Amino acid sequence: MAIKNSPLIAQYLRIKEKVPDAVLFFRLGDFYEMFFEDAELGARVLDIQLTSRSKDGVPLCGIPYHAAQPYIAKLLKAGHKVAICEQAAQDQNARGLMPRQIVRVVTPGTATEELVLSADQKSFLLALYPSGDAVGLAAIDVSTGEFLFASLSDDAGLEEEVTRLEPREIVVPRGLEPLPPFFARLRCTITRLDDSHFAAAAARQVLARRVGGEASIDGEPAAIAAGAALLYLEETFGEDLGHLRAPRPLRITQHLLIDDVSRRHLELTVSSDGARQGSLLAVLDETLTPVGARTLANWIVYPLLDVAAINRRLDAVDEFVSGDLGGPAPDALKLIGDLERLAGRIGSLRASPRDCAHLGRALEAVGALGESLGACRADLVRDLVERLAPPSEAIAIVTATLGDDPPVDPHDGNVIRTGFNPQVDELRMLARDARGVLARLETRERDRTSIASLKVRYNQVFGYYIEVTKTHLDRVPPDYERKQTLVGAERFTTPELKELERKILSAESGLKELELQLFTRMLRDLTRFTPAIQENAGAVGELDALLSLARVARRRGYVRPVLDESTRLLIHEGRHPVLEAGLKRGEFVPNDLDVDPDERQLLLITGPNMAGKSTYLRQVALIVIMAQMGAFVPAAHAQLGIVDRIFTRIGARDDLRRGESTFMVEMRETARLLAGLSPRSLLLLDEVGRGTSTFDGLAIAWAIAEHLHDRSRAKVLFATHFHELTDLARERPRVKNLSMAVREWGGEVVFLRRVVEGAANRSYGIEVARLAGLPDGVVARAREILANLEQGELDEAGMPRLAHGRRQGPSAPQMGLFAPAESRIVEELKLIELERLTPIEAFNILARLSTKAHGNE
Ligand code: ADP
Repeated sequence: MAIKNSPLIAQYLRIKEKVPDAVLFFRLGDFYEMFFEDAELGARVLDIQLTSRSKDGVPLCGIPYHAAQPYIAKLLKAGHKVAICEQAAQDQNARGLMPRQIVRVVTPGTATEELVLSADQKSFLLALYPSGDAVGLAAIDVSTGEFLFASLSDDAGLEEEVTRLEPREIVVPRGLEPLPPFFARLRCTITRLDDSHFAAAAARQVLARRVGGEASIDGEPAAIAAGAALLYLEETFGEDLGHLRAPRPLRITQHLLIDDVSRRHLELTVSSDGARQGSLLAVLDETLTPVGARTLANWIVYPLLDVAAINRRLDAVDEFVSGDLGGPAPDALKLIGDLERLAGRIGSLRASPRDCAHLGRALEAVGALGESLGACRADLVRDLVERLAPPSEAIAIVTATLGDDPPVDPHDGNVIRTGFNPQVDELRMLARDARGVLARLETRERDRTSIASLKVRYNQVFGYYIEVTKTHLDRVPPDYERKQTLVGAERFTTPELKELERKILSAESGLKELELQLFTRMLRDLTRFTPAIQENAGAVGELDALLSLARVARRRGYVRPVLDESTRLLIHEGRHPVLEAGLKRGEFVPNDLDVDPDERQLLLITGPNMAGKSTYLRQVALIVIMAQMGAFVPAAHAQLGIVDRIFTRIGARDDLRRGESTFMVEMRETARLLAGLSPRSLLLLDEVGRGTSTFDGLAIAWAIAEHLHDRSRAKVLFATHFHELTDLARERPRVKNLSMAVREWGGEVVFLRRVVEGAANRSYGIEVARLAGLPDGVVARAREILANLEQGELDEAGMPRLAHGRRQGPSAPQMGLFAPAESRIVEELKLIELERLTPIEAFNILARLSTKAHGNE
């Protein structure tokens, strides 16, 4: 650029160079200004006015510094980072340009601003370091100090763990290309860091500095990832990381595996439209604290495998459900708030006076929570109650130091309690006293001058003054010094007033200064309680989650599942928790399940669209997940062998509009899930093969079902509208046919939503056509064609072709070309539910069938 930059712009550009990928908030007086491209971007994203500097035409926009939070939140949500550049310590006498420096870079993974975080979700920064066959992973939630690590050995495991953590930001080595394809789905910020961040020596140092050394993390790749995460945090969040907890290994093998796609299909934490409403979490979450909400969400995503561990939770829920739901415990919980993030703000020295005052009240409520649950007998509850040990010293410090209603900003004054510090009391007295003195001075001057309208006042620019209106100027005494002239009045001061002014102002500013000092000292002192507060918060979260499960179980009539080491799943009158919650009591039709690897391994569920197949599949998965997270389940009875992984493959029905590639995706995912199945695995396949034309779709569905039966003992629920598949049950011993009951009623087809043994009615579509009033001739012809198709005599173009061996087993239906009259009677007979008929109805039906059989209808 030809234009010579002003010193300010030159300074800006120097600083901006350090943070090329962040929007730079450049502090100028009371504003954060953005320049150049940042200004253009800021104006667009933040919807504020773009202007330009009059001197040099540099594009510019700005926001008031004290209201920056919502703007930062908005930029982060739009996927940007924000670098905050402040004016460094000002020397009053220094001339020229104010020194400035970046004090913080707010990125999606390192933000602790409440406006950016959501109360019921963790906020992880992830670092990944691939090395040889392994990938080191570290995850830090800087808002709470949670710190996890893992060494992962394959791509599938990596995808699993990363998607479960739902990171806000991932840091990777700059050279890592290409990125794993699933990154695209995460919709989180990817930050590439130089190799220096991923060096073993640097990792050792920063781990030693922050968490007592690398010994706390096994596996070099994980230690290096952890080092990179910490270095990045130091650069962005800053050095105050006293709230970081000891790193914990992520124990992948201790949890029920549910891949990301399945998690979304099952709508565990968000529903298909991305909202929380309509998810399993929304039904189960009646927690009263944000820590509890995050704990419960975590349990849903990480169900357990260990029967004993699950029973510990179930025992706790059981005790609450059969007792008084914790009695007064909920009242205590409501007062606690987000103790975990509060601990984070205290440990990182970012807590406000109001936060600290709340800490005192929250810790008292923790004490009350412990008391209200003191008589509980369940093991887990007792352990958790034991962990509720609010540090009374911290409560004492806060109560003694802080006033009753301290402000958010510690610079505002009125922070420290009267009686805590003699100097504070004295300055406060002085400031207050001075006001009295001022009032007395005004009265005295009025008397002395006989000017009744004389006023002693204060303003920001001129300080204290005596104001006399023009009409009384002749009475002003000679010791008054003129300060300012207005249209109708003159303002004066006196030596006495000057002295008073000095005292008042210095008392007030001295007071604020001192209060800030004392507050900061208290905050530093409180940091030693951070681990204890975090420990309490953790226990509060679990108790809150358990109590929430208990309340939901009681209200919705859930029962305690029985878990064992078998491989059988037995559910009596199971319900879909989310669908049921949206219906009136009794409207949801419960269904049973009996599946096991030895006898009933693959259940083929046939039935028309909208009959309830997919609901049935999902409800089975949800019941299993609920049971293994330690919740009661929506059923009359459930006896469940532990499931180690759940896969769902929902066919293309719902995403046809997304085009051809969906079928590819479907097949790719299906291919993946065919590997690594055990008798403990549960597969839910819904409308597989639907994304392509009828015949190859059917062929694929058939082959997959065969494969699952022949090559694995995984439990499979296979819902399909391909009726032909039901023949598989004749050839494969562990395949059983189930169907969704439908029934004709008053000229309509009614879905009974009941799962019954046996295959569905083949000619359902034709029945509907008949009911809809299609001419008899057409219906009859349709039956003929159906029969032909069933015999495999015709292909999809209606042309004859050779029959294939496999489908024509010895018991394949042998219907003659002119069978429709009989078959129609048989179909009608199948639809009849004898137990629901009155004798008269039964007689009428018999009469009609008899007429039909005689061929004169
Ligand atoms: P399919 O998969 O067979 O096409 P769905 O499972 O999508 O059918 O069910 C269709 C609709 O039927 C659901 O949206 C729900 O409203 C209702 N439904 C399904 N199962 C039940 C049930 N057991 N009780 C009551 N309503 C149900």
